Amino acid sequence: MDETVKHHQTCIICEQEKSRGIHLYTKFICLDCERKVISTATSDPNYAFYVKKLKSIHTPPLYS
Ligand SMILES: [Zn+2]
Repeated sequence: MDETVKHHQTCIICEQEKSRGIHLYTKFICLDCERKVISTATSDPNYAFYVKKLKSIHTPPLYS
């Protein structure tokens, strides 16, 4: 009875609606993409793509 199974959400990386995944802050990453991010080497060109997507999660801190 996991709510994440019932509600499809749009993954911020593949931009597809998935039912299973994790929440980071207010964003959603599907299980497939989470695994890809974890298994991608930092030297892999794709890694920069994932990092860029993941960074969009964070609102830049405002130092005032
Ligand atoms: Zn995804």
